[in-house]
Amino acid sequence: MSKDTDKKVRVRFAPSPTGGLHLGGVRTVLFNYLFAKSQGGDLILRIEDTDQTRFVPGAEEYIVDCLHWCGLVPDESPQKGGDYGPYRQSERKERYRQYAEQLVLDGFAYYAFDTPEELDEQRKLVPNFRYSHENRDRLKNSLNLPVDEVDALLKAGVPHVVRIKMPVGETVGFTDMIRGFVSFDTSLVDDKVLLKADGMPTYHLAVVVDDYQMKITHAFRGEEWLPSAPVHVLLWEYLGWRSVMPEWAHLPLILKPDGNGKLSKRDGDRLGFPVYAMNWTDPKTGELTKGFRELGFLPEAFVNLLALLGWNDGSEQEIFSLQELIDRFSIQRISKAGAKFDFEKAKWFNHEWIKRSDLSELAPYLREVLAKHDVLDVKDGYLEQVLSLVKERMTLLPDFWEQAGFFFKAPTTYDIESIKKKWSTEKTDFFIDIISKMEGLEPWRSEELEHFYKLAIQASGLKMGELMLPFRIMLVGGKFGPHVFDIAALLGKEESIARMKRGLEAILA
Ligand code: GLU
Repeated sequence: MSKDTDKKVRVRFAPSPTGGLHLGGVRTVLFNYLFAKSQGGDLILRIEDTDQTRFVPGAEEYIVDCLHWCGLVPDESPQKGGDYGPYRQSERKERYRQYAEQLVLDGFAYYAFDTPEELDEQRKLVPNFRYSHENRDRLKNSLNLPVDEVDALLKAGVPHVVRIKMPVGETVGFTDMIRGFVSFDTSLVDDKVLLKADGMPTYHLAVVVDDYQMKITHAFRGEEWLPSAPVHVLLWEYLGWRSVMPEWAHLPLILKPDGNGKLSKRDGDRLGFPVYAMNWTDPKTGELTKGFRELGFLPEAFVNLLALLGWNDGSEQEIFSLQELIDRFSIQRISKAGAKFDFEKAKWFNHEWIKRSDLSELAPYLREVLAKHDVLDVKDGYLEQVLSLVKERMTLLPDFWEQAGFFFKAPTTYDIESIKKKWSTEKTDFFIDIISKMEGLEPWRSEELEHFYKLAIQASGLKMGELMLPFRIMLVGGKFGPHVFDIAALLGKEESIARMKRGLEAILA
């Protein structure tokens, strides 16, 4: 894939630390990661924090935690360092001005002295005002002002920005790895700011300088960045670096479930599913946005479901480990069309991953669920047996408590309304009798218990169905749970009998 096959593949994930990480952002890092790892390359995490007005404390740490949770650990990052640091753009500030100035000297950019008030005035006067070839000749910039006036303004330190001078009527294009050749009419693109009045570069300048200096070979980013691509391509060209410009892949959007537009955080709130990878609390408003992790998704499932939003390996296979994804990943199989997000399908992936995971993988999560209910000190052996009985019934990790909480805490309430109506003294006698017989039953195993219980029902002349449900309710409190004799076997003789006695009391009360 790389133009120069000897060159090590280097990709980057370049988020702006402005809040929680949308699942689309995680898919972007995932595709970068899968491509890099499939080529023996490196993933670089670069924090794009040049817009100080949008900086949100805690957002960078959140991103780093999120990548760790997903197992997409960068090879170079602000935390880890590397040969191409610093990895935060705000710490690279000094590097950008020289390039902006070089562009001005070479005639590809210009100084603009228009004040924010003057620009506001233009916006009022001209509908859809954009600073571009259509009006730059009459605005306050170094293209129009006499050279000595420009020098004087610069010397006097009058605030100014540097803008790219977009050519008129040219076509600029590049070959996108997903979309093929993409081209743009430069007349339609405005003269973007490259360097701001505070000396900070804008995203457009910083992304090009950093991708160059960090020797990025390939870049996967969201489709929403496609309109910026002509500016970037021209900058690569104007700075004399076009031959080493990374190969781009603009990933298809993740769409709302009905396919109507990009999936936003608000859609998640509206439809009741998470859109962020992990819980995010806005430090200003204190607003909590729920994430997949806290809802009870396994990272393996989350990564798996994201990989399939816009990619497949051409077979029917849907469950892939990260290593399998690396092995099977190919750009040719990324679709150009947006991928609809389906939360039911997302849950299906989690269910499948829970089923496939073993105790050692699930134990930390299960213990966390149990601790929330003040259940501590559970032995691994017991946890494993409980898990084997309820695994198939779990979709999200907290389901473990709904499905299996009774293995750790005896029921305190009983769902007995329906059985109470049909209760009879014969049933009471049956339970008193079987409880006393169970005291001597050996061995206390599921199969033996089932055999014994069913024989007792036959001997009583009562109906099978009418005696199974009460038994279950006595043990678990409700009409749910796995095979009832498996439950009794695992609870043990003493505990099962104690629960039967309490349950019977509740029915008779
Ligand atoms: N800083 C941009 C973002 O927040 C990065 C876009 C790119 O990858 O070039 O998504």
